[in-house]
Amino acid sequence: MNAVDDTHASLGGSERTGSDEHPTLLGIVLDTNPTAWAELENKLSLKEAVESLLIFINAHLSLNNANRVAVIAAHTTGAKFLYPKPPSSSFENGSQSGHTSLKAMSGTTGTANIFDRQTMYRQFREVDEAVVGELDRLVSSATEKSVRSTQSAVSGALSLALTYINRVNSNEDEVKTHARILLVSVSGDLSSQYIPTMNCIFAAQKKRIPIDVCKLAGDTVFLQQASDSTNGTYMKLDHPRGLVQYLLSAFLVDPAILPHVNLSTQRDVDFRAACFVTKTVVDIGCVCSVCLCIMSKVPADGSCPMCGTVYDPQALQKINRKPMVIVKKKPKKKKAKLDSTPVGTPSPIP
Ligand SMILES: [Zn+2]
Repeated sequence: MNAVDDTHASLGGSERTGSDEHPTLLGIVLDTNPTAWAELENKLSLKEAVESLLIFINAHLSLNNANRVAVIAAHTTGAKFLYPKPPSSSFENGSQSGHTSLKAMSGTTGTANIFDRQTMYRQFREVDEAVVGELDRLVSSATEKSVRSTQSAVSGALSLALTYINRVNSNEDEVKTHARILLVSVSGDLSSQYIPTMNCIFAAQKKRIPIDVCKLAGDTVFLQQASDSTNGTYMKLDHPRGLVQYLLSAFLVDPAILPHVNLSTQRDVDFRAACFVTKTVVDIGCVCSVCLCIMSKVPADGSCPMCGTVYDPQALQKINRKPMVIVKKKPKKKKAKLDSTPVGTPSPIP
């Protein structure tokens, strides 16, 4: 956090004008994995994280009247829009029961509402009510199987965010926006979603959409690559309880002034890839020359598991050949000559 410093930012008049002309569309992906949040309970509950996130969203909306936001939950059962609400959604019907379930998940028993409906600015209230209502519905619909799952649909949520941004910016009637994505992640293992996650990264790279990652727990190799490839910010929080401060300090920066701000991000990126067959991160592996599929080991039938290309048996022999190890010969012991002169101190001659 010490590196977060905007004192050297030199803001010209044209840049400020540019920021006003092009509002920001912020796509927020919230990882709602119940198992991961239960492990994080002592440091930060889901309810506290949502409260911090709503403060951050309201701050983002207040920066520019035309700023927009989309919030997507990456749950174990799939990705779901929290805001804007899906057309078929009517959270008002089940909002009361939903609040109970969110409190139950966060372990709190207080009766105070997350937001005060009477005194809130209308735009803030719409977003807050939609996010809390839809999240409550999602949590209350959890089954025993979904709660035990350790995998969140992060790649699906990223895809939803990218397609929503593309739809807004492709619509000629809509105002063109600078877009960026913030991923609040708590689950560690994403190796089974390597291919869809990398596809999302390439799509974001092509559309110049930075992916910022706020990591509350665990460490995911591919998310480091996502932020590095798209010029985003990757921050692993040492103190998750101060989430709102991290969000407001490091992730509220407008893309227009981003080049002038010295942000704290992780410099050492782990560029390892995952095996397409075993779904594990590999240090050294083989790559199919046709489809670029990564394998920790070539399958026994000698063909690519993705595109079915049959490899040259001679080339496979070379790959599977065990490395030559040169065995050092032990030096032979010299046999003592029997007829040699005796070694030792000669006895004194009287
Ligand atoms: Zn292949």
